[in-house]
Amino acid sequence: MESRASEPEQHDRRSAPLLNVDLAFRKLTEIVRPVADYEDVGLAHAIGRVTAADIAARIDLPPFDSSAMDGYAVDATGLHGASRPQLVVIDQSTAGHPARRALSAGNTIRVFTGAVMPAGANAVALQEDVVREGDTVTLTTPVRIGQHVRRQGSDIGQGDAMCRAGKKLSAYDLSWLAACGIATVRVARRIRVAVFSTGDELASAGDVLKAGQIYDSNRFALKSLLREKAVQVIDLGCLPDDRTSIRTALLAASAQADLVLTSGGVSVGDADFVKDVVAEIGAIEFWKIALKPGKPLAVGSIGDALFFGLPGNPVSTIVTYLLFVAPAVDLLAGDEPMPPMALPAMLLAPMQHAKGRREYVRGAAKVEGGRLVVSVTGDQGSNRLATFANANCLVEISEDVANLRPGDAVSIILLAGEGAHLLRETRETQEAPAAPDPAQRRV
Ligand code: AMP
Ligand code: MG
Repeated sequence: MESRASEPEQHDRRSAPLLNVDLAFRKLTEIVRPVADYEDVGLAHAIGRVTAADIAARIDLPPFDSSAMDGYAVDATGLHGASRPQLVVIDQSTAGHPARRALSAGNTIRVFTGAVMPAGANAVALQEDVVREGDTVTLTTPVRIGQHVRRQGSDIGQGDAMCRAGKKLSAYDLSWLAACGIATVRVARRIRVAVFSTGDELASAGDVLKAGQIYDSNRFALKSLLREKAVQVIDLGCLPDDRTSIRTALLAASAQADLVLTSGGVSVGDADFVKDVVAEIGAIEFWKIALKPGKPLAVGSIGDALFFGLPGNPVSTIVTYLLFVAPAVDLLAGDEPMPPMALPAMLLAPMQHAKGRREYVRGAAKVEGGRLVVSVTGDQGSNRLATFANANCLVEISEDVANLRPGDAVSIILLAGEGAHLLRETRETQEAPAAPDPAQRRV
């Protein structure tokens, strides 16, 4: 048989057209309805939650003029450009304990970082720039008006917009809201996600495998990936390859969840019932994507719940979760999902790729000689979780290109989590310093 490496692959075996990945994503954004059901939560529980309304600053930040450094508060105008003026220290202002006295001519007040600027002062002379003898300081460096002063409201002014509605709150947002004294926020309620595995062959980790069984990994992958989302996961276990059981379980799940995720049973095998059952009890919006791995992905609805039938192969489950499910969770909560940042990298080894489907290959990227290079993590079978072992990115190969050669430019998408540390330029990849000449070594 002839090699199909460069032959377009737009149709599957039964000649049903495969849906382009971008089109599939657009369809998804069209069918997802945000839950629009809100609750007030304390900041401690707000990480990853999506704001229901714009949030404005309640106070000026900083709330008062304060010193940015340890030093001496002065009236820079009153110094009249005198060289090395001498001033008398009459009081001090520390963080949380303002000075009792106002500044008057010929005087200074000791200040520390974060302390209220004393009345009458408009600049801070750094403590490194003065000579202090007893209660007298001599300024050794000219002082500019406003120097080392944080003006009231210079970070944000009372009433100014801090967060827009539909913003997923990050640690950075929460720290800013806390700084403005905001204790509770109105956010979308947690999205409820029901997760099933399907397949007569599945056993649970900890069980002894019987003939023909494999361990269920997809539920763990999905539940672990969902931990980065502020969702409520409903683990509904494994379903057998049986229409009636699948129908009953999916109907029950759709009544309690906003999103129902299954893996397996959406391909064209004789025991692949999931998609047909969903077509009966709900609707399939689209099925079969020009994607590798992940072609059999089925997306639809059951009642009010959004449904994803993820392919059973473990790598396909993960890739389709990252590309479609993760953004759908954000959309359900009212957030606009950001497309992943694609970084340019140089491929280190040749790669086989057939035109027609977009491919996401597990890769190990690193910085070499100041630029990103990437190698593929071994044979990319969609059953091979081993390809994730040393991976820190997905290499995105367009549907329009054929086989790739070393040196070709590709796009990579970093996987969230620990893999990112692999990116750091290591000693071995930096240019090795010349070995010291023993004759010249100083002892
Ligand atoms: P299916 O689409 O159901 O035919 O599944 C495709 C492949 O993925 C088969 O080899 C299944 O055994 C495997 N598979 C399905 N579900 C899981 C799971 N939860 N964990 C690990 N492998 C699975
Ligand atoms: Mg199956």
